Amino acid sequence: MACEPLIPERLAAPGVRALTPYQPGKPIGELQRELGLQQIVKLASNENPLGPGAKALEAAQRALLDSHLYPDGSGHELKTALAHHNGVAREQITLGNGSNDVLEVIARCFLAPGDSVVFSEHAFAVYPIVTQAVGATAIVAPAHDGRRAPRYGHDLEQMAASIEPGTKLVFIANPNNPTGTHVPSVELERFITAVPPQVLVVVDEAYVEYAQARDYTSVLPNLSRYPNLIVTRTFSKAYGLAGLRVGYAVSSPAIADLLNRVRQPFNVNSVALAAAQAALADDDYLARSVALNRAGMQQLTEAFRARRLPYIPSIGNFIAMDLQRTAGPVYEALLRRGVIVRPIANYGLPNHLRVTIGTEAENQFFIDALDRVLGS
Ligand SMILES: *Cc1c(COP(=O)(O)O)cnc(C)c1O
Repeated sequence: MACEPLIPERLAAPGVRALTPYQPGKPIGELQRELGLQQIVKLASNENPLGPGAKALEAAQRALLDSHLYPDGSGHELKTALAHHNGVAREQITLGNGSNDVLEVIARCFLAPGDSVVFSEHAFAVYPIVTQAVGATAIVAPAHDGRRAPRYGHDLEQMAASIEPGTKLVFIANPNNPTGTHVPSVELERFITAVPPQVLVVVDEAYVEYAQARDYTSVLPNLSRYPNLIVTRTFSKAYGLAGLRVGYAVSSPAIADLLNRVRQPFNVNSVALAAAQAALADDDYLARSVALNRAGMQQLTEAFRARRLPYIPSIGNFIAMDLQRTAGPVYEALLRRGVIVRPIANYGLPNHLRVTIGTEAENQFFIDALDRVLGS
């Protein structure tokens, strides 16, 4: 029998062959190794500058003592707390290893080759990845051009018009990352009502705790009106637990039942379950996160305005600034000064850098470095 050499690429499922992996922010340790810098400020992954809350940390430490035991695969206690927190039933919640995991479970649960998925231009990078990985087709709706609504934001009319007979699912990040833009709640609910009933709408509310705008509220309180709605949330941002990986979906019990069939039995570890439950009860930490973010957002936007640097107004814990030229070299120069931010050319925004709101001192360190780099 003639033996052909193994070519793994050819063995990969068609969707996987075309995949480009998610590009995370550069880790601090990596930059330290490369440049031997002492002081490094990372404002690249929308992490919480406060560090983990004391209560979450204490709960995590306690949970470590039971590390030899499998976690509660049903996440009963955390789900009970989340159900109470969100005014829903426990049966409506699906836990994930970060909301990224939840998004992937949703894709694996509902999408097959031949199905299509609609999301906006400049939307969160995980949507195309989970769509492609299962062999479904992405339909990218053009974002607002600035005439009817703030530029770069999701255009729900374009998104509705992009829905085809084969469309199974729509992803909406509200607020969106990396733009920080949001869709008004009234328009979002009109959209959910108008889409064909067989199309699932996933509203990703990773930044909901930070989001403050006259026309913005979470869609979660109205979930019971929309049988095709899935809302996702995370503990990675305002709750400060990105490293532990906990997120969740809220949906109808029927959808949650399907999602729970697909997720791994122990997808959220015991330390994360305990820490998330403690974090959810720590109102003080959350309030401090939000207050620090508001002050830092003001600090950065004032600095940008003083330097006549345009930016995309954001209601998240990050802001995309427009350098009005290719941002790559500025990103590299900032790295050499010990500041890690996020280039977002892969989001169709080659002139922008996304900066996470840090502490006052971190923000100032970034502004000073930027001044040196831009020579102003
Ligand atoms: C950060 C982020 C997430 C959450 O990621 P986790 O997997 O929960 O850490 C989800 N959606 C968006 C839009 C994000 O920016």
